[in-house]
Amino acid sequence: MICMNGDIEDERHFMLTCTAYNELRKELFGQIRVVSGGIWCLNSMQPESLFWLLLGGSKDKYEIKIFELVKNFIRRAHQRRQQL
Ligand SMILES: [Zn+2]
Repeated sequence: MICMNGDIEDERHFMLTCTAYNELRKELFGQIRVVSGGIWCLNSMQPESLFWLLLGGSKDKYEIKIFELVKNFIRRAHQRRQQL
């Protein structure tokens, strides 16, 4: 699948870089920061670690909450894509 800005739409692009989901992503990062009490500050993470945190989990007590938020992001991003 090709994104509207010409990039290949794969999981990485979808989760980390697709500009169509910038606002949702910003919201997600903010929510993760809040539920982890400020421990997970995703804005300062390298893309590779970020990707594995979002899909592989944080491996700490915040993991379940973070997965919930990621799931919510995917659901909303998918809805948005159908409206584009
Ligand atoms: Zn895209």
